[in-house]
Amino acid sequence: MLTIYNTLAKKKETFQSIHTGKVGMYVCGPTVYDFLHIGNLRAYITADILRRYLEYCGYEVRLIKNITDVGHLTDDSIAQGDSGDDKLVKKALKEKKTPQEIAKFYEDYFHKAEKEINILPAHYFPRATAHIPQMIKIITVLIEKKFAYEKNGNVFFDVTKFPDYGKLSGNTLKNLKIGARLEEHPDKKNPWDFALWLKAPKEHLMKFDSPWSIGYPGWHIECSAMSSEYLGDTFDIHTGGEDNIFPHHEAEISQSECFSGKKFVNYWVHTRHLLANGEKMSKSKGNFFSLDDLWKKGYTPMELRLFMLSAHYRTQINFTWKVFNQAKSNFKKISDWVGNLEKTTEFKTGGKNNIIIEKYQKDFEKAMNDDLNTPLALSVLYALIAKTNKLLTQNQLSAIDAKNNLAFWNRINKILGLIVSKQKIIPTEIIEIAEKRKIAKEKNNFLLSDKLREEIEKFGYAIEDLKDNNYLIKEKI
Ligand code: AMP
Ligand code: ZN
Repeated sequence: MLTIYNTLAKKKETFQSIHTGKVGMYVCGPTVYDFLHIGNLRAYITADILRRYLEYCGYEVRLIKNITDVGHLTDDSIAQGDSGDDKLVKKALKEKKTPQEIAKFYEDYFHKAEKEINILPAHYFPRATAHIPQMIKIITVLIEKKFAYEKNGNVFFDVTKFPDYGKLSGNTLKNLKIGARLEEHPDKKNPWDFALWLKAPKEHLMKFDSPWSIGYPGWHIECSAMSSEYLGDTFDIHTGGEDNIFPHHEAEISQSECFSGKKFVNYWVHTRHLLANGEKMSKSKGNFFSLDDLWKKGYTPMELRLFMLSAHYRTQINFTWKVFNQAKSNFKKISDWVGNLEKTTEFKTGGKNNIIIEKYQKDFEKAMNDDLNTPLALSVLYALIAKTNKLLTQNQLSAIDAKNNLAFWNRINKILGLIVSKQKIIPTEIIEIAEKRKIAKEKNNFLLSDKLREEIEKFGYAIEDLKDNNYLIKEKI
């Protein structure tokens, strides 16, 4: 059974879904004003592994990952994150483009990158700009219930009205008061109140009509609106990077729970940061590696994926080429192993069963059940590879062992998501000749069928006849 560290409970908990066999999961997605960097990918890979593992355990997962295309302000690490410029608007002005053009370009890049890294697509990628009415509805109710107030066209959430404020991050009002000195917005009642809606200056590029002003939503409200739209008021899992814990997720809880009167999320899963030179890798600091930086150096998407899985999601990783090269050589080890297993099953039959694969399967699952301990799970795989390789060098690896190993690999790789086999694509001309040969055989024209076989062989392929006039084409070795 899966146990997962829940930031809300501050401990590992046994996972139990709200609805039997089904899981609702929300992932804080990208703010589409710049290239996705490998730090962002770390957070998305954790979510992907969690989703894949839940599916492996038999759950039907519905995963929603939002696209932030409005409202995320530049000073998001200061206080409640509602000062500064809109990140998209700033970029649009700099590049003399519309915010929509900026959003489209970086959203496309994000999807391409996720595909390259073999992150399973979310079931839906809602955009913040397409959910303004839902946000307005929540804000209206919050004002009615007196959890929020409007002044001069701005609307703020009144943190003093929600006694649970701080339950996720530990930043209760008492703790916050000791902590920081804030730049106070003139319309806020309390310095820690946060923006739900902000009135836009006349020249602002992205603004929407609302009952309070022509303006734009706060960053936090969008995730409350989009999650409840697609997953309901209460759902199972919410993920993000550790920087999302405060203020973003703390604010989401306040808004959503005061709006619905129900618990918002059962399990909060946060990935620690990927660092560069000891600091959070981030778009705003500019200390990030893009995917293209890696590909230019000759690394591959799957090596990056393995690099991420080689550390537990709740430990920080400092990105260095040395650690990355370790992942590169481990990826080669796995690919070679799979290649050897495939060859063995192709050329050998039967034999003695030397490896008790069930033990590896059990140990692998045990590691994954323990808060998705991917480095430990990978060490189980590496131990199996070492054992198999030893048998191989002694020419003792039987076809049955190879088959069991491959079946194990295919099972666990549904979770790891590594693409290793260099799938050989059979050229269409070869398939066309094979099809002609099939027809010839059906007509008992064996002379022609032999001629066509020779033709296929000239191209370096072999054809094997199967039952019912079917065939298998293989590369000749
Ligand atoms: P953003 O596009 O900045 O809104 O970030 C998208 C997601 O990536 C959020 O869940 C962040 O918490 C996460 N994230 C950003 N930087 C890092 C990093 N260096 N390491 C891990 N996760 C990160
Ligand atoms: Zn979010």
